[in-house]
Amino acid sequence: MKPRLVVLLSLFAGVVSLALAADTAPAAAAKPLRALLITGGCCHDYDFQAKMLTEGLKPYGPITWTIVNEGGKTTKGQIKLYEDPQWAKPYDVVVHNECFADTNDPAYVAKIVAAHRAGTPAVVIHCAMHTYRAMTEDTWREFLGVTSRRHDHQSRYPVRPLDAAHPALAGFPSPWVSPLDELYVIDKLWPTAKALAVAKSEKDGNDYACIWTNSYHGTRVFGTTFGHSKETWSDPTFIALLAHGLHWAAGK
Ligand SMILES: [Zn+2]
Repeated sequence: MKPRLVVLLSLFAGVVSLALAADTAPAAAAKPLRALLITGGCCHDYDFQAKMLTEGLKPYGPITWTIVNEGGKTTKGQIKLYEDPQWAKPYDVVVHNECFADTNDPAYVAKIVAAHRAGTPAVVIHCAMHTYRAMTEDTWREFLGVTSRRHDHQSRYPVRPLDAAHPALAGFPSPWVSPLDELYVIDKLWPTAKALAVAKSEKDGNDYACIWTNSYHGTRVFGTTFGHSKETWSDPTFIALLAHGLHWAAGK
């Protein structure tokens, strides 16, 4: 090997190792995010979804997960953790993926939202929009940023971003066609909420927010109504969306 080539090669190796160091240093120094996943209830495979979430988000930054999967498999159940007024204190962000449409207990739901009102960010997924649906009070829906009481049939819905520059939509393909999933009918997008993407109903032709953010008394909430099927939870675009949404929410 000619000396000049050796010098060039070692220079190149030096640049590569410097670049690698620059790339890995912040990740190594970053404190893991403390995330709580609350899940359980009717209609979906929550063990599978929890696995896809916690495994799928690994490449996006260090997260220490606590998973609470309880309340049974029906539309009526409660999570014991919420009895503690400080339940959200140890966490940087809470993911709500619980599904108890017929739980109608205003005092119970008040304890849940109080933690978010006090500043703990949240991610809300799919059936979290229909949980506590039996309640006439809007306590839970104000926190979500959307009011929904029913969903359209399962189909593959083209999703149209409205705010492609939002960090939660980083790398989001336009359009993205959802795997087989339910489209939730949004009766009301709350004034504090902002739709990031919509999908069109095949029944009434209306666009409904399917990805959004909400400012709940100043606390960040990120939501998506997709997440019914195993196909959706196996889609890298859906997982990336949850990852970016969670990190955006936790970023305050
Ligand atoms: Zn569903």
